[in-house]
Formats: sequence, structure tokens, C-alpha cells
Amino acid sequence: MRIEERGASRRNGRPTQPDAQQSEEATDARQEAFSGAGWPDAESLELSPIRQQYLNVKRQYPDAILFFRLGDFYEMFDDDAELVARELELTLTRRDFGRGQKSPMAGVPHHAAEGYIARLIGKGYRVAICEQVSDPALSRGLVEREVLRVVTPGTVVDPAMLAAKRNNYLAAAVLGRDAVGVAYADITTGEFACAQFHAADPESALLQELARVQPAEALVEATRPLRAPLPRRHSRHSDHQMDELADLPEAPDALDADDEASLGERLAARLDAIDARLGMVVTPYDARFFGEDMARERLLEHFHVATLDAYGCAGLPLATRAAGAIIAYLNETQRGALAQITALETYSVAGFMTLDAHTRRNLEIFESGRSGSVKGSLLGVLDLTRTPMGGRLLRRWLGEPLLDLERLHQRQEGVAAAVADVTLRTRLAKPLRHVGDLERLANRTLQRLATPRDLIALASGLHTLEEMLTSPANPLSQEERGNPNPFPTPDAGAPPLKGEGLGWGLAHLLATLEALPELQTLIARALVDEPPLTMTDGGVIRQGYSAELDRLLDAARNGRQWVAELERRERERTGIPNLKVGYNRVFGYFIEVSNSYVGRVPADYMRKQTISTGERFITPDLKEYEALILNAQEKSVKLEQELFAALRAEVAAQWAERVLRTARALAELDTLLALGEVAAHRNYCRPELDLGNTIHIVAGRHPVVEASLSQQPTQHDAGFVPNDAEISTDDAQILLLTGPNMAGKSTYLRQVALITLMAQIGSFVPAERARIGLVDRIFTRIGAQDDLATGQSTFMVEMVETANILHHATPRSLVILDEIGRGTSTYDGLAIARAIVEYLHNNKRCGAKTLFATHYHELVELARTLPRVRAYNVAVAEEQGRVVFLRKIMPGGADKSYGVHVAQLAGIPRQVTRRAAEVLEELERTGAARERRRAMREMATPAAVQLTLFSAAPDPLVEELKAMAIDELTPLEALNRLYELQRKARERAAGD
Ligand code: ADP
Ligand code: MG
Repeated sequence: MRIEERGASRRNGRPTQPDAQQSEEATDARQEAFSGAGWPDAESLELSPIRQQYLNVKRQYPDAILFFRLGDFYEMFDDDAELVARELELTLTRRDFGRGQKSPMAGVPHHAAEGYIARLIGKGYRVAICEQVSDPALSRGLVEREVLRVVTPGTVVDPAMLAAKRNNYLAAAVLGRDAVGVAYADITTGEFACAQFHAADPESALLQELARVQPAEALVEATRPLRAPLPRRHSRHSDHQMDELADLPEAPDALDADDEASLGERLAARLDAIDARLGMVVTPYDARFFGEDMARERLLEHFHVATLDAYGCAGLPLATRAAGAIIAYLNETQRGALAQITALETYSVAGFMTLDAHTRRNLEIFESGRSGSVKGSLLGVLDLTRTPMGGRLLRRWLGEPLLDLERLHQRQEGVAAAVADVTLRTRLAKPLRHVGDLERLANRTLQRLATPRDLIALASGLHTLEEMLTSPANPLSQEERGNPNPFPTPDAGAPPLKGEGLGWGLAHLLATLEALPELQTLIARALVDEPPLTMTDGGVIRQGYSAELDRLLDAARNGRQWVAELERRERERTGIPNLKVGYNRVFGYFIEVSNSYVGRVPADYMRKQTISTGERFITPDLKEYEALILNAQEKSVKLEQELFAALRAEVAAQWAERVLRTARALAELDTLLALGEVAAHRNYCRPELDLGNTIHIVAGRHPVVEASLSQQPTQHDAGFVPNDAEISTDDAQILLLTGPNMAGKSTYLRQVALITLMAQIGSFVPAERARIGLVDRIFTRIGAQDDLATGQSTFMVEMVETANILHHATPRSLVILDEIGRGTSTYDGLAIARAIVEYLHNNKRCGAKTLFATHYHELVELARTLPRVRAYNVAVAEEQGRVVFLRKIMPGGADKSYGVHVAQLAGIPRQVTRRAAEVLEELERTGAARERRRAMREMATPAAVQLTLFSAAPDPLVEELKAMAIDELTPLEALNRLYELQRKARERAAGD
């Protein structure tokens, strides 16, 4: 397939490029690039110029695959060729170029390169794109070549390689002894941010922050640069992969032993060890670019400022170092095209609720655990955004729940306004769907990457926006449009404004939008409605935009017209009936006369070529017109390119900033409207937010489970059963939830966490009423058997995660523990579960609000001894020996686990469940379970726990043995009693 494409392209040549020289150079080059015969170290004297050129470029990019432009192809040589042939299944050409050296070469046609590059980036490689930068038609000798861009996973700009509703971040990480610095940028949107924070365990803190940002690529310091293009890992990040961050092995000992290894290298090694699972490409980057002075210099230079004060990172060396490394790296890969990075924001992780990777995954915030797709996740329910900008913003909000009441209230205002105004929502829906990605389009303009089609898309998006703003859908008055100032702050006592009914938020955003009609006109005047994909053939600039271009095009057209009429004129003049005017690439225009009429040829014809059927002639006039046509064509294409570049530069310089401001307002408007729409459709309420210690939810629902139920209402499916929750640091701090399998425990736990999370992004929540005291962190630990998805369901993992929770939870945190202690034996598990509850209850520093679901009914007894523990169960009813799940949370513990009933529901053969019921009855009769419970209750002080946990329970067998009057027994009786005791002991062992 590829071979054919290639052959075809070569046969057809490049009809639009008049120079034959280029293709000759290209052919030569393909051969000459081998005259070095694959010996990069060979004496340069022995190398052909083009091979030398290739090797010079390659030397600068040892860690990237070099796409070397030769005519219509990108060619790869040597090791790169072998690698690419293997990875992309291309045909590897091997040619003997003398001296017995066979050199590998592989190539792709330039117009199809994007797809190949995308696949290599997808595999974690870096690609350096080396272009011809001088005009082959004008160069004498070697065409100049230069790498114009290095494509890496974090610096992708090709829209085909980007997900519309997700940012593509490049991050840089700096590890200090007790602090970390992080910076990240998205060159497709212009975002650039950095942070520095202290942490007792900087390594985990850093991984934590990277898990939140989810960059496509992360730079870390390296004193040893990469020497070859290596794939850094495989798939795109998913929560599953990020999840495993917390279970990383420590850095290999070998590295600790190496005194030279910097912290950065240790980090790189640690990331490397897990990069396949991490889901981001880790790029070791020259440590010098991470140096504080160098980094500061870079930033000052980039922003053309004298101090970094304005960006808030002046006193933060680690943040500055990370940010500086980003700028250095971007300059290198983008070759200075960084105009879109206009500001640096210093953020504080203290401003966000912390969501560790486990919690993101367990709560299925961004993707469903089962399918790994957005569908079935919280994002899937909430994402009714209509613009790519809105989609990206919602994702960001979900990843960064706020701790700031004022900002949350502002968002709530906007959502409330959207909920209230159905008309506004429905009327804005369609235009929003059609504005397109104004943010990325504006950035492409700033990066000088925008194509004619991009500018047309920009203008058309703005046009859609204009229609929206001038339609009755816009509640703002004429004066209020395009002028956000009348809406400076909420409740500023402003005069009555039409937009005010909307709530401050939406009105402000609507007023910020600018459709920029002048820009639309500028683009519409300059470009044709449907420009071709590339600029190579012209046809992009509209007639009337440039007098000079029109004149050239006219001349070409007139020339062609003259030639077209020449045939008729010459037939009349010469009386040769079959005289023809033709064109070929070698001779240009000619007049062809067949052999029988050659005698009638007039004197001004000059013979040019003899063919089998006749002769070909030219005339001075014809040659003059030919020159005019070709000249005008070539000049007009060039002029069109210049005009377009100038237009793009003007749009970038004069308009891009304003388009970006509008795009950001649109993103927020879109997101608020989407949240409003979900709230209205699904009947959510506006939660009351405060800084108190209580979470109080009335008739709460699980947003995702509810959504999946209402999709398929059946006779038996009563829909989602709402439940209350009241949990408070100083009162009902720990809710112990028991109930049989399938009762709805896990759902309830998650629903409380999700409602809290939703409240803290400013969204409404699935409940009748809710009051949420803001939470600094949500922790989750889901029991081992529920955790098979990661393939890591070991007791160890469970304990590692639990340890993390106990170390980091604060009284402001919300902790969700679902069936912990299940991965080990009953007694172990019960003991650990109990100790954890006691710790959460008694340790002041921890004291987190906790929801604890457990199948250990015995734990419920803790509610009697620990004042802030409350026992609840999920109600089930028994109807004719069958269990009916009521899904209702009730006070008190569950006394039965209904395991046998569930087994029956699941279709276990009747014989088995009947026998199981008998065994259960017998076990309960012996009273061991009851005793265990009593033991739990009577075990008072935590200090005594280790010693007395289970020995406190008087063993009925021991009691029986003690009470036995052996002297009074006959030998046979004694033997019988002994048998009986053994039977009981065995039965009990089986029960455990
Ligand atoms: P458990 O953790 O107690 O074993 P789950 O929380 O996994 O039970 O719930 C089992 C199933 O019951 C869920 O898949 C869900 O579809 C359904 N369910 C749970 N809670 C409710 C509810 N409140 N209303 C309706 N269906 C529910
Ligand atoms: Mg469960």
C-alpha cells in the first residue's frame, strides 16, 4: 500500500512545482545520504554533502527519530530507519552503497506524515521534523535543512492527535529535600502554571500532584542525557494506571548507593521503574535547564520582564526551576514559537481538595472502573458541555475541588441561574455546539500554525457567537453586551441591569463575550470560503483583497485565454485544420502539426521537436505568453503565502488575546450551563456550604447509579432509593454500616463522597437538601475483593493504602473505608478493622469523618463503647424465605448477613443452599458468633486491645471442659463426652 503510494507519487511528479532540480536533488540525496555508509564517525572528508548535512542534524537530536525531508518524502536513516520500519511496519530498504556497507532507509510521503508521527508519539517516541528551509528552485547546490519542530507527547499541536475535551499537559518536576516544585503547560491552550509546596515525603507528594495534573509528559532532571530514541512507555494515562502510583517500589538500591545520583535522577529512576503503568512519558532533561539561575533567566527573557514578582513565583525556587525547564524545553521543541504562553500562574495545592489516585479511581470520577471510559463515571453524568473549552474546564474543576467558599458561591450562583432559566439554556445550546474550539484556534494563530481553514473556522465560530449574542437568546441589553464592567462583583449595589436577573456570574460571562465583527470581516475579506487544505497551489486568498494578486491572476488568466484561443486563430491563419496547441513539462507550450500539413507551416514557426506523427513548433509570442503564465502562477502562489502569513500575524498580534478571553468566558459559561442543565434534569439541589464540621444530606442519591437506573425503568425497578446521611466531626464522626452483600453499602459510601465532591466544584448535588462543611481531602479504601480490576488485590496493598489514610487524614477529611480487613483471616481482619476504627475515633490529629462499611457485624458493638461511632445497616426484608433489598439505611447493626439468601438469588443449586442453611443454624446455636460479639462489646479500652482481643471471650468449649466432673464419669461416658467436644471444636473451626 505504502509502496504503491510512493511509486505513484514519484511517477506523477509534482505538477505544481516547476523546478526539476528539486526532484533531482531528492533522488541524489537519497543515494548520497549513504555515501557515509552508516558510519557516523567516518571522516567527514569521505562523506557527501547531504550525508554530512544529515549527520550534523542527527547529532543534535540523538534522542529523537529524525524525519529528514527529501522532496516529497520524509526519510529516516540508519538506526532510526530500522526502528521506524519495525514500529510502523514500513518496508525497510537496504542498499549497498559501495564498500560493502548496507545502509537502512525507510520513508513516508510528506502528506501522510501526520498519521505516522501520531503513531510514534503514541508509542512514546519523540520525532524531530527536519524541513527544507531554502527554496529548492532557487538554491544552488544543497538545499538548506533545519529541524523546525520536535514532537513529543507533551508538545503535540496537531489537532488530529489531541482529544478535544482534555488538556495535553507538559509537566516538569523538581524534587527538594523537604519540598517539591511542579510546573505544567498546555501549548495548545496557552495555560502555564507552577507551584511549590512543602512535604515530609516529597516524592509521594510529587507523584500525587502529577497524578492530579495528569500530564502527557513529565520532565525530570537528568545529568546524563538520552543517547537514543527510546519509547518511554505505552498507553495514554488512565486512572487505573495512575492509581498504582501509591504502590511504587522504592528506588532501586543501586541508585541510593550512587552518591552522584541527584534527587532528580532518583525520581527519574523511580518513575522509569513504573512508567509503563504511570501513563505518562517521563523525559529526563538536562539538569542545567533546571538550575535556578538559568531557569529564572529563561523566564525573565520569555516574558520580557525584569522580575518574576508579578507571577507569584519570585520566592519559590523549586517552582521557578520547574517553570524555567518547561520554557527551555518548549523553546527547544517548538523552535521559539511560544507566543501563546503569555503568563505564568502560581497556584497553591492548599487551595484544592486533595484527591489521591485511588480516590479518583474508586469514586469513578473520570472513568468507569469497568469500561475505563467516561461513560459510567461522574464526568459522564455531568458533562453536558457543548464546547471543547467547556469540556476541558469541567474536567479541571472535577480534578480540583475548591476549599474557597467565596469562589464556590460564585459558581453556585451561575449554576442556579442556569437552572432557573430554561429558555436561556435551550437557546444557547445550539450556538455553543457550533462555536468550535476558539481557544485552540487562537493559540494556533499565535504559534503561526494556523492554516487557512483554521482562520475560516475561527471566523465562523465568532460568527456563530455573534448570532447568539444578538439573538433574543441573549438576555443582556444592547448596552450591557461586550461590557462586563457593570457586573463587577456580586451585590455591588449596581443599578438595575437586565442581565442581573441572571445572577452575577452568567451575566458577567455573557457580557465578557466578544464576537469581534471586525476580525470576522478581516478574515472573510481575505480568504475564500472554502480554502484548500494546503497553501501549495494557491487558491486561498479572495479576489479583491490584493490588487497585486488580482493583477497576477488576471495576467495568468489572460495568458491562458490567449493560448486557448490560439488554436482557432492559427487554424484560420494557416488553414491547417488539425493544428493543435499542447503543453508538456519539458518543452512548455507548443503548436503541433501533423506530417501531412508540415508544408503549410508559416515562416514565424520555429521547429522545436519531431515526433512520429508530425512536428512541434513554438512562436516568440507563444513563448512570451508562456513565460507570463508560469511566472504569474509562481508569483501568485508565493504572494498568496505571504498575504496569508501577514494576515495570520495580524490576527495573532491584534486579536488573539481577545479571542482567548472570549474563549475562556465561553468555557465557564458552557460549564455552568451544563451543570445547571444536569441539576434541572436530574433534580439536584443547591447545597449549603460552610466551614463547619458537618455533612448533612437529606435524601441523597448516587449520581451515576441513579442515572443508570432511570435509563431503564421497569416494573420491578423502583428507581434509586434515596438515603440520608449525617456525619460530624464532633458528634456522629464514624458511621459503621453493616448489611448483606448487594444491600447497597458501597453505593451509599460513594454517594456521600460524590455529593461532597460535587458540592466542592460548585455543582448542585443529587439530594433533597444538603449542608456540606468543606472537606480538605477525600480518602477511599475499597476492600481487596472489590479491587480485582487492578490485578493487585493483595492484603499488603490494602494495608499500605490504609496506612496512608491513617497518616494523612485530618479532622477536615472524609474517609471512606469499604470492607477493609477482608483480605486476611477473620480474626486478623476483625482485629485490624476494630483497631482502625478506634484510632480514627481516638486520635485527635486524625479524627476524620468516616464511613465504614463492613461485613463484620461484631464491629457494630463499638457504637456502644465509643461515643462518636454510630451503627447503621442497610435494610433487607425476608419474604417467604427470600431476601428483598430495601436499599434503606437504618440505625442499628445488621444481625444477619443473608449470605445464604444471596447465594440462592445467584442461582446456587437448592441442595447446596439448603445444606448451608442447616450448617448456619447449627453454628449459630453453638453461640460462637454471639460470643464474639459480646467480646467486642466488653473489650473496653484500646490500650487493652492487643492483649485481650479475643481471649476475653470465655470459650464455651473450655467452660464445658472446666465444668466437667471427670471423677463421676464412666469410661464410656468420658469417651462420648470427648467425642462430643471434638465434634464441636471441629465444627467451630470450619465456621471460622
Ligand atoms: P454492597 O456494597 O452492600 O454489596 P452495592 O452498594 O454494591 O452493595 O449495591 C449493589 C447494587 O444495588 C448496586 O449495583 C446498585 O445497582 C444497587 N443499589 C445500591 N444502592 C441502591 C439504592 N439506594 N437504590 C437503588 N439501587 C441501589
Ligand atoms: Mg460493597
